[in-house]
Amino acid sequence: MSGSPAVIMRLVASAYTVAEKAGAIVRKVLQSGELGIVEKTGANDLQTLADRLAQQSICASLSRRFPKITIIGEEELPAEEVTEDLIEKGQAEEILQKCCPAEYSGLKEEELVVWVDPLDGTKEYTEASKCLHLRAEAQTPLKGSDTSQLLSTALWLLDNVTVLIGVAYGGRPIAGVINQPFYNYQLGAGAALGRTIWGMPGLGAFGFQLQEVPGDRRIVTTTRSHSNKLVTDCVDAMEPHEVIRVGGAGNKVIQLVEGKASAYVFASPGCKKWDTCAGEAILHAVGGKLTDMHGNAYRYDANVKHMNSAGVLATLRNHEYYISRVPQSVLQALKSD
Ligand code: AMP
Ligand code: MG
Ligand code: MG
Repeated sequence: MSGSPAVIMRLVASAYTVAEKAGAIVRKVLQSGELGIVEKTGANDLQTLADRLAQQSICASLSRRFPKITIIGEEELPAEEVTEDLIEKGQAEEILQKCCPAEYSGLKEEELVVWVDPLDGTKEYTEASKCLHLRAEAQTPLKGSDTSQLLSTALWLLDNVTVLIGVAYGGRPIAGVINQPFYNYQLGAGAALGRTIWGMPGLGAFGFQLQEVPGDRRIVTTTRSHSNKLVTDCVDAMEPHEVIRVGGAGNKVIQLVEGKASAYVFASPGCKKWDTCAGEAILHAVGGKLTDMHGNAYRYDANVKHMNSAGVLATLRNHEYYISRVPQSVLQALKSD
């Protein structure tokens, strides 16, 4: 490789460390117990101090280093000076060392759009915090089994939480970074928490072991907190052997690439571009797909509407099978953009 790394590689190398910093913020706010919850459109659409601080950290850190890039974050925040302790200046050396796919090597800053979900799975994050709080209050020997149940529920919920940074060029996702701040919680106190997964179509995906669901089992993963009749009808129409209900779009994409689920099915508006951009890029990097319920791709240009109105269907393999099973009622209710 001659000269300095391509802009896109420098951007992904920064996004990697910036996502790690955001993950640390997410852990710290949980530990403080002061979540500062705000309802956005309703009780199932929440924002916490962690969402706000993580977004400030990600957007300010990236825009300092890449001032011409368009960055679109989920949270609407007042334009105020970000404190210096939120700025991350590092870059992942292992990413700078990689060879940039030829088609992306000449991309300019101003051609890139970054989609940021500072905390995906906020609903589950707040529920986990409540469990931990209840556990702390009920801390008596008599209630030992209750408290361990509360702890395991909280930890399970925290696995749903991710930080998502997706990069688009020409309307298509070309890189994705997902930080899972509470990964490895099973190892108990003292273990280093968190991991970062990233990928680029044409280069590959890293930070996890790619695995497929064994055999022809259809394991469908779907929402646990934003369900409705259309969502459940569509899941049933896939004739799944098993259904998993978990929070977070990022978490569900991780389940696909780690062989825990064969399809992510969400036949409803609700997911936005910042929920799907990073995961779609990682899926493309390993031969997977993410579309609306009609099988049409979403675009990620700077001026697109944020809502993925025609639902989300994502798979590692056999996308066409799942598309062929989508019921007419869903196709009629959810129109492609
Ligand atoms: P879920 O699978 O329910 O965790 O949703 C994945 C992502 O889409 C999360 O960021 C949710 O906040 C978002 N989402 C899905 N449905 C809705 C909805 N009805 N209202 C607000 N956000 C939603
Ligand atoms: Mg989200
Ligand atoms: Mg979010």
